[in-house]
Amino acid sequence: MSNKIKRIILLGPQGAGKSTQGSVMAKFLKLKEVSAGQILRQAILKKGKLSRELKAYVTPGLLVPDGFVIDLVMRQLKKPTYKNGFIIDGFPRSLRQARIFDKQFSIDKVFNFDISDREAVRRLSGRLVCQRGHIWHIRHNPPRQKGICDICGQLLFVRDDDRGRAIARRLAIYRRKTSKLLKYYKKSGKLVVINGEKPIKKISQSVIAYLKKNA
Ligand SMILES: [Zn+2]
Repeated sequence: MSNKIKRIILLGPQGAGKSTQGSVMAKFLKLKEVSAGQILRQAILKKGKLSRELKAYVTPGLLVPDGFVIDLVMRQLKKPTYKNGFIIDGFPRSLRQARIFDKQFSIDKVFNFDISDREAVRRLSGRLVCQRGHIWHIRHNPPRQKGICDICGQLLFVRDDDRGRAIARRLAIYRRKTSKLLKYYKKSGKLVVINGEKPIKKISQSVIAYLKKNA
């Protein structure tokens, strides 16, 4: 199979199943997955000036300025690991970032995992995590033993930003920021909208069906 789809952006609010479907796509297309959050965390872990500058924003919970994020992501994606393509989550977040991104990489497709605010809140509000970041869900994906992570055996808890009011606030910000992005990618014919409200397996099937037809 000669891939026509090599550089993919994932959009969708938290809880839309982006990372699950991203993995499905990565496996099918043999592409590397990467997230802006992961790039940022790695940069913070490396000692030095940049790490100290980033910590000054992240530690008190401030947003890392656009310039830093753009720089870090561009530098990462130019590494040989990604020469055959990538699937990126969490970037771009703004129209400005999207335009800069387009100047440096030719993006093939932008998958938007579409779910309503109501569904996003419902999914996130049952989410449980352990210290190591394994994710479970009270209803959709419960651990075998209540309150304990199946993978590492640590205690599960609800993250502060997964609580009601915080979720609603985060969603509102997300919607405001991405409405322009969605228009932008729609106009360029790259946007693929996937119904994210279906069961996980059904969503994967739609994604694979699309890729089989178009990649
Ligand atoms: Zn765990």
